[in-house]
Amino acid sequence: MSRLRRLTESDRLGYMTRQIKVGDVKIGGGAPVSIQSMAKTDTKNVSAAVREIKKLEKSGCEIIRVAVKDFEAAKAIRAIKRKVNLPLVADIHFDYRLALSAIENGADKIRLNPGNIYKEDEIREVVTAAKKRKIPIRVGINSGSLPVRLREPPKAAHGVGQGGKDNMVNAALDYIKVLERMDFYDIIVSLKASDVLSTIEACRLFSKKSRYPLHLGVTAAGPVSTGIVKSSIGIGALLLEGIGDTVRVSLTGDPIEEVIAAKNILQALNLRNFGPEIISCPACGRCQVDLRSIVNKVALRITNDERRITKNCHSKIAIMGCEVNGPGEAKEADIGIACGKGTGVIFKRGKLIKRVKEKEIVRELLREL
Ligand code: SF4
Repeated sequence: MSRLRRLTESDRLGYMTRQIKVGDVKIGGGAPVSIQSMAKTDTKNVSAAVREIKKLEKSGCEIIRVAVKDFEAAKAIRAIKRKVNLPLVADIHFDYRLALSAIENGADKIRLNPGNIYKEDEIREVVTAAKKRKIPIRVGINSGSLPVRLREPPKAAHGVGQGGKDNMVNAALDYIKVLERMDFYDIIVSLKASDVLSTIEACRLFSKKSRYPLHLGVTAAGPVSTGIVKSSIGIGALLLEGIGDTVRVSLTGDPIEEVIAAKNILQALNLRNFGPEIISCPACGRCQVDLRSIVNKVALRITNDERRITKNCHSKIAIMGCEVNGPGEAKEADIGIACGKGTGVIFKRGKLIKRVKEKEIVRELLREL
């Protein structure tokens, strides 16, 4: 067992949270860190939403959120739910009656934003409906839409913007108090800022003060390449400390990329396993095969092979460009290849088993897996 895994497990025990259920998915209390995404189609367009959600489910998404910006969208939840298996979260802003309609139409969880739904009598109506249907509420704090009394002037130079960590955490704790006064405890909390460090600090602080499970994410993280970096740092740093129970990577792009990024973060931290892991060198002037093409082909085959995912295959595949680090990495992996000039030698669990030509490398590696 690696040092990282031991550290993470002991830290996770220190931050053990209450367990909440969203549909059949458990969040917190030691349950595996679950993966969420948000549909980008208009919720009213039921067939498009169903198509998108099915694709997300196939890619590994476990909970899906949909935007509910009017009553038609709230009603569409019923039709969508008939055709998909994932638990559905209704994202509500401004009008609490949309939450009531979403609950009536079968939503499995409601996200409320304390910055725009804050009147106690309105919250009470949502809580009464959620209790009746036994569904949780996420208190979704966003640094860009904090309750008015907690807003700070923007600090653009540091990207922190409205709301420091204290304000974000206080907004969550105040809302939790209101819910608890109504005898409601099926609560999940998120504290998101577009600034990575603010997100980390807010979640750290909250975890010291509360045992409600945390939904992690860096909000508005940007386009795919930079968004994945920001999310990996923000979500990864917190998970490494044992903080966080469910994650959403927010990207301006295909939501499938969000799910893949989330899976990669969890797998890199040894928290979940989604199939074989590729270890490959960047290749340099010493390499005498088309390593990029070989690695891409193996990666594509693994990603598209659902059988391997359902088998929960833990294998490590090393694909190395030359004899400098090649044999060492290849021997350490379950299956590995160290390439030479138009050839490669394959190692299986540390033993050299065969020499193959470049064009046979992909096929032979996968055959041995
Ligand atoms: Fe270059 Fe060889 Fe290192 Fe790959 S393993 S980066 S080919 S020296």
